[in-house]
Formats: sequence, C-alpha cells, structure tokens
Amino acid sequence: MPIITTKLRKDYMMVNLISDTVTKPTPAMLNAMFSAEVGDDVFREDPTVNALEAKVAEMFGKEAALFCPSGTMTNQIAIKTHTQPLDEVICDENSHIYQYETGGYAFHSGVAINLIKGENGKITAAQIDSAIKPNYDWLPRTKLVVLENTCNKGGGSYYNLEEIMPIHQLCKAKNLALHLDGARLFNALVETGESTEAVGAMFDSISICLSKGLGAPVGSLLVGNTDFIQQARRYRKVMGGGMRQAGYLAAAGIYALDHHITRLKIDNDRAKMLAKVLSEQPYVAHIRPVHTNILIFAVKAPFTAATFLEQLKAKGILAVAFGTQTVRFVMHMDITADMVEYTIRVLQAVR
Ligand SMILES: *Cc1c(COP(=O)(O)O)cnc(C)c1O
Repeated sequence: MPIITTKLRKDYMMVNLISDTVTKPTPAMLNAMFSAEVGDDVFREDPTVNALEAKVAEMFGKEAALFCPSGTMTNQIAIKTHTQPLDEVICDENSHIYQYETGGYAFHSGVAINLIKGENGKITAAQIDSAIKPNYDWLPRTKLVVLENTCNKGGGSYYNLEEIMPIHQLCKAKNLALHLDGARLFNALVETGESTEAVGAMFDSISICLSKGLGAPVGSLLVGNTDFIQQARRYRKVMGGGMRQAGYLAAAGIYALDHHITRLKIDNDRAKMLAKVLSEQPYVAHIRPVHTNILIFAVKAPFTAATFLEQLKAKGILAVAFGTQTVRFVMHMDITADMVEYTIRVLQAVR
C-alpha cells in the first residue's frame, strides 16, 4: 500500500539547472524508503544497507562495497586507504578531489598532489607515466592515480574503456593504485554502452554517487576488494560516517539503481538539445562540447554570467556561473519535458 502518492515539492514552477544534486525522491522511491527493513549499520545489522553494498559490489564484479554519506567521503576514504603520509596522488588539475573536497587529501591523508593538465579533465597514460616520481628520499612517493568519470569541471566529458585500459596497465606495471571518482559514472555508461563489470576490472576502487543523476537523496558507495573495504570501514568510522538505521537511505539507493540508470540518457540528450538552441542565439560566445548531462557555455558582453543568470532567474530558471562569462546548466530527473520546452522559449527570448 503506497504511503506517498504525490510528489512533495513546493517549487515545481522553478526550473533548477544548478546541479543534478537538487533532485527530490519520487513517490515510488519514498515508498521504498518507508518500507525498508533496518538495523544498526555500525554493527552491520542493517539488512537494507547490506543488500545495497552487496548489490553494488556485484555490479562492478568486486568483493565488497561501503555505503557512505557523500562522494567526498568515499573519495577521501579511498585516498586514505590507498596511501601513507608523504605519498603522492596523481590526478587532473580540475579533479573534484583537488578542487572541491576542501583540501581533504592533505588533511586526512597527509599526501601531496601531482596535478596533470589534462584535456577536458581527462589525462592519458603517457602523461601519468611522465609524472611518476623516481624513488628518492627527498621526493614524495607516487602511490595513487585518480581518474574522474564523467569529468565534472571537464564539462561532463568521459573516458571509454579503450582510454582507461593503458592507464590500468601502467598502474599495474608501476605498482600504483588506481581509483575512479565515478560520481556520474552512469551518465557515461549510458553513452558508451560499457558494462559496470568491465569498468570494475580496470580499477582498484570506485566511488559512485546515488545523490546525483540517480536521484536518491543521500549516499555514495565505495567499491573494492575485501581487505580494502575492511580498512575503509574503519576510516569511515573515524571520519564520523558510521550511520545507524541507514537502511532508509540505502533503500532509496537500491530503488535508484533499479529504476533510474537507463533514463540518464534523457538528461544527456536534453543537454545536447539545449546546446543546439544556444548555438543559434546571438548572445552566446562559445559552447563547450556536450558529452553527457552538463552544458557549459559563455555569454558575450555586455552580458556577464551574473547578468544573464539574473534574467533567467526572473523567469524562474536557476543555474550557476562557472566564471565571469561562463554558465553551467545540469540536466537531471526533476527536469520535465515541459520544463525543457519552457527553458528553450526563455533562451530564445533573452536579449
Ligand atoms: C559531486 C561529486 C563528488 C562528491 O560530492 P558529494 O557532494 O560529497 O557527494 C565527487 N566527485 C565528483 C566528480 C562530483 O561531481
């Protein structure tokens, strides 16, 4: 018997393109949450958390997984578990772990970061190879490589398996751990058609977010082998991420994985559709290639990102500036076809 039958939101007139994190649970997801069986997950007695962890581990062909409150936490635990203080992490200069996690790599793990200038957030095996430091007492020790897929600040660009394979092989040859920040991994997989198992085989650990395009209110998972996840579980506890009846949240995650993956293609396609509309507007200076659900474009003077966003806001459309002239739109499951049509009309009327 469903408990919630209508979507609980007061702001349905707003078109919120700020991020795919703004989604609210659907009635069906809320019902799945209400009917979850729960227990104390710190004692590993929450059947729904256990089921979610087993489900995600199996999806990626890995031994174990760990449910955490956020993607920042899964990434930070991964860095902590893979490294010792004075080690070094290689990643793209625009990586979320470097840009948007409050410098946590230094705070939690005492590691250095070695930044690579990638292309749209993507780095290559050759770039990584030349960034690996030789073994001297006076140098940090290169230990971990982190890829991001899709690349948030790279405009939603993605790696395919052919690009990841040489990086995987290099890391094996050089004895480096390889972690994937897959906050929006499924937005890439609906484009490439690649399987989660194939991705799992490339990495020592993977983070995925349930609270982005998949539409769950809270939660991320870290996936890896049994020993890795056992250690990660201790770090989750010391970071304050051990939750009790978290099964209510895990139920939303299970629902999201079962029902909200394939529809991500709609979000990706809509981002491309809006890019096409923007390409026909006189006030648009430049549009970054659209790969998935993120659309980044620059407006011409006399517009600035701020004045452009003010005009949109007056029409009930919200987005964020990504620079003085640059604006970002993110598509997600709370954007309806009507909202897309309305947004197109507003974009065509901006002057
Ligand atoms: C959102 C995001 C994360 C994690 O963010 P939380 O808000 O902490 O869940 C990690 N990496 C990328 C690329 C992201 O976009």
